[in-house]
Amino acid sequence: MNNQPGKLIVLTGPSGVGKGTLLYRLLERHPQLFLSVSMTTRSPRPREIEGKHYYFVSPREFEQKVEASELLEWAEYAGNYYGTPRRVVEELLRQGNSVLLEIELEGARQIAASFPEALRIFILPPSMSELERRLRRRESEDDGAIARRLERAIVEIAAADEFNLQIINDDLETTIAEIEAILHQNCVGRASRLSET
Ligand code: ADP
Ligand code: 5GP
Repeated sequence: MNNQPGKLIVLTGPSGVGKGTLLYRLLERHPQLFLSVSMTTRSPRPREIEGKHYYFVSPREFEQKVEASELLEWAEYAGNYYGTPRRVVEELLRQGNSVLLEIELEGARQIAASFPEALRIFILPPSMSELERRLRRRESEDDGAIARRLERAIVEIAAADEFNLQIINDDLETTIAEIEAILHQNCVGRASRLSET
């Protein structure tokens, strides 16, 4: 077991920018990276799997986790709660693993305060019109939910400078290569394994 604490990597960006797509591609290519599975009170989308994409819970269950300090961070986003289960992330880091969190702005701010050494990356869309196209193409939200997410996107994008790095997700392969280069530079003790895969 590695005695060095692992690296915590936070990926934030407006809904529809491509965070999930990027993450699953990165995880496929770098099986030594761990993705924290969040808890949420929103309903599952058609292809989402309990325990893989999220733990889907009721508002009451979520509030109990908050009260018991079982979440590393949490926030309300577009009418639902989202949060990171604390125990598994702390254990993975303690064992020297690199852990990815895909979370929104308020949660990323909480992580900046509690884990100042975390690497925080903000993913930007090439334009607002392309962001809206991606949200619509995904066909997972109705018009009202898309409008709420686009409103929230403006607030989130205005805070992109708070992050260590900002990357525009225009061409997917280029973005993946950029993130891989950043991980390579930052993941002490993981760099050689990242480059071997
Ligand atoms: P997020 O997790 O940030 O909400 P998703 O990963 O669900 O976003 O992506 C939203 C939509 O945009 C999906 O249909 C995805 O295939 C598409 N997408 C992601 N990245 C790109 C890209 N670089 N170029 C074009 N479409 C993309
Ligand atoms: P979605 O409903 O599209 O899956 O996610 C909505 C937003 O919640 C996205 O910006 C996503 O990054 C964020 N999110 C997902 N899990 C968490 C979490 O555990 N904590 C926080 N703060 N945000 C999360």
